Amino acid sequence: PKPTPKLTLVVAVAKNGVIGRDGDLPWRLSSDMKRFKAATMGKPVLMGRKTWESLPKKPLAGRQNLVLTRDATFVAQDAWVYTDLDAMVAAGRAMALEAGVDEVCVIGGAQLYNALLSRADRIVLTEVDLAPEGDAHLKFDLSTWREVSREEVPRGEKDDAAFTVRVLER
Ligand code: NDP
Repeated sequence: PKPTPKLTLVVAVAKNGVIGRDGDLPWRLSSDMKRFKAATMGKPVLMGRKTWESLPKKPLAGRQNLVLTRDATFVAQDAWVYTDLDAMVAAGRAMALEAGVDEVCVIGGAQLYNALLSRADRIVLTEVDLAPEGDAHLKFDLSTWREVSREEVPRGEKDDAAFTVRVLER
């Protein structure tokens, strides 16, 4: 039998724990967006309704988009809508198996990350070298996680800051 697809959080966080402001990202990091695309391509992506609304282009192309809301009447064009977190995770895993990919990616926002950290297998963590004002924060205790890779990325032309990409596993 095939192994259960992993649950991976893909998240960019500032030094002060901020991940969002006014329904958007508090920074522009073109180089990290490219990495995000590569890391999630072909995989089911799980997100909260506010993150769905924040996407400039909906759905994220080449990925099955799953959206969580408490509004049973919510319609998201070309995405799957769930009102139950467990049902969404189970559906994401089933889609990953079906697609032959080894992970499901949680792509935000703060509510989704904080709700799913306890069941995550892996975190792709972009640590942004900024400390902006914000209204969405991570409440992560990463002390029980081990770093499996780390890459320092210098600030590119279309980036607001340098950043470090760390992959963490249990
Ligand atoms: P989320 O994107 O996590 O969405 C929250 C919504 O999800 C809730 O309002 C609700 O939708 C639904 N929801 C949450 N939990 C449940 C549940 N248990 N059952 C059913 N529905 C649920 O919102 P946040 O405000 O936490 O985060 C958005 C912010 O994060 C934005 O600023 C965004 O730009 C940022 N962001 C940052 C990322 C990064 O890596 N830096 C990545 C992604 C987003 P409803 O209200 O419809 O009922």
